[in-house]
Amino acid sequence: MRASRTAIAPTRWDGPGTPGDLAQSLLRWFSTAARDLPWRRTRNPYGIWVSEIMLQQTQVQTVIPYWNRWMEAFPDVHALAAAPEERVLKLWEGLGYYSRARNLHRAAARIVGSETGRFPDTVDSLLELPGIGRYTAGAVASIAFNRPAPILDGNVIRVLTRLLALKGDPRTRPLQEILWARAQDLVTASEGRGGVRMPWGECLGDCSALNQSLMELGATVCLPKNPRCEACPVRSLCRAAEEGTQERYPETAPRPAPIQKVDAAVVIEQKGTVWVRQRPAGGVNAGFWEFPGLELPDPVDNVRRHVARWLGVPEDRLAPLPPIRHAITRYRIRLESFHTTGIGLPAVVGSTGRWVDRRELEALAFTAAHRRIVRLLPKATLPAA
Ligand code: SF4
Repeated sequence: MRASRTAIAPTRWDGPGTPGDLAQSLLRWFSTAARDLPWRRTRNPYGIWVSEIMLQQTQVQTVIPYWNRWMEAFPDVHALAAAPEERVLKLWEGLGYYSRARNLHRAAARIVGSETGRFPDTVDSLLELPGIGRYTAGAVASIAFNRPAPILDGNVIRVLTRLLALKGDPRTRPLQEILWARAQDLVTASEGRGGVRMPWGECLGDCSALNQSLMELGATVCLPKNPRCEACPVRSLCRAAEEGTQERYPETAPRPAPIQKVDAAVVIEQKGTVWVRQRPAGGVNAGFWEFPGLELPDPVDNVRRHVARWLGVPEDRLAPLPPIRHAITRYRIRLESFHTTGIGLPAVVGSTGRWVDRRELEALAFTAAHRRIVRLLPKATLPAA
């Protein structure tokens, strides 16, 4: 579907129902349909903040074990602020978008070092922390403190553009502002209803429940493809459903085509240890460990030959491991890795790094792709220490 260039959305609420009608239906539905997620059982703003940061770019089911481990390791903002960065990164290993972990760490130090030492409880004060934008500030202020702050993420954008049949690309400024205003209408309309009891017994504030109900609707009912309108609590209040145009919205312009890339990595083994290096500060994945390697042009005819030439060793000294495919932002990366032993440490690899045994290898924080290389190593490589 081609996106229209110009948003022609109304500047006031213009739907089959009022914000009050919608808020009432959403809250009633949420009181029975809400998924029982671990961060929904806490009122602790710190835990809610951590969940919101983890949920950016990451699926709920992936986040659950990470959130549980994180809360056990760093149960409050003081514990996080006091933790060494290496440990913070290790707990985040595999979640990707690692600046999120670093920002959590920095923000925790900022909160602990602030005059009051208290967790910020307004949108404005939350926005001052690193890694917190308008969405996260609204989510924490509403979910943890029941403030009537709007939220707007991909799920909410989809729900709102369909409910109100809002045309135009939601990434453009004018429609963004309209969507924020409509999200504000809804959360304001939810106030003063006396709270919402969750299926597991806990009572949530109205604004907290309203915002979570919007996210929940987008995640479980108003799906990007084949929305489950027959099961939707606001079906009778939805303009797109009335018109039969649900899948037309949101009219997001297509993203640029992904860029293909080939990376290579080498596991150099020596006397029961392997060589690893730490990514430099200030760059991508700073602070994480990895095996030495290089970027190659795509397409590349023979990756093993390139890597052998780079290292200055015969090709047959490199045993290929199965390729790993992964994605980072717009890049679709094929990572070819090789295992070798008895070649010493080729000069081209440089001396910034260290030899580690299996136990250290497990303890260090690796990027997800390089952690997968560890799992691919032949069983005989690096016996457990
Ligand atoms: S009726 Fe369908 S399109 Fe409208 S909000 Fe519900 S699931 Fe989404």
